[in-house]
Amino acid sequence: MKDIQLRGIGMTSERTRGRLIQRLRDMGIKDEQVLAAMLNTPRHLFVDEALASRAYEDTALPIGQGQTISQPYIVGRMTELLLQGEALYSVLEVGTGCGYQTAILAGLVDRVYTVERLDQLLHQATQRFRKLGLRNIRAQHSDGGWGWEAHAPYDGIIVTAAPAEIPAPLLQQLAPGARLVIPVGSGRQQKLSVITRTEEGFEQVDHETVSFVPLVGGRG
Ligand code: SAH
Repeated sequence: MKDIQLRGIGMTSERTRGRLIQRLRDMGIKDEQVLAAMLNTPRHLFVDEALASRAYEDTALPIGQGQTISQPYIVGRMTELLLQGEALYSVLEVGTGCGYQTAILAGLVDRVYTVERLDQLLHQATQRFRKLGLRNIRAQHSDGGWGWEAHAPYDGIIVTAAPAEIPAPLLQQLAPGARLVIPVGSGRQQKLSVITRTEEGFEQVDHETVSFVPLVGGRG
């Protein structure tokens, strides 16, 4: 990819990106590794060119087919909750969308597995991974409610679409001690939950209210 496109200019420059990172820090994102991964990931390449100048605002943006790229603060927050300062080997992401969250994870863990039910979005996302030279991502077109059995168990699972209830396969595909970060609820707003697999079973901690598109069953 052309260097200038990667680095960005004006509203997509590294300086603009740096301002967003400072804002996330001010809003309470503490994990410097997560912030560094976000600084190094050109969010403007994950949205339509017409929206590139807004890529470093702390806001969700449309990515087509009624879906959105998550607000940077939420991406930072969920990634921080997933890692909790630990080095994870394998992570499953449900809801690839434009692939921005996937790309952030690729810089922080060894292997990222990601599933998306909309073929067209998945196709665009995998093209971006290739252009950015991200080689530790495996992507599949499927209903993530079933997880991705072939590569389980995972050291962490992150879900970026909201189910009414936590899908059981996702719990089953957690390694001992691993965490699932997931928005849960059937309305426009959901609670962000972290479920940890313990020796005895599962422990759930609820965090802030978030607003995700619904997790939809089946492939589109
Ligand atoms: N992480 C994404 C967020 C995309 S929005 C990003 O950074 O852009 C959520 C995505 O979840 C949408 O692309 C939607 O198609 C997808 N999705 C919804 N239900 C799904 C399911 N059951 N399995 C896989 N993906 C699903």
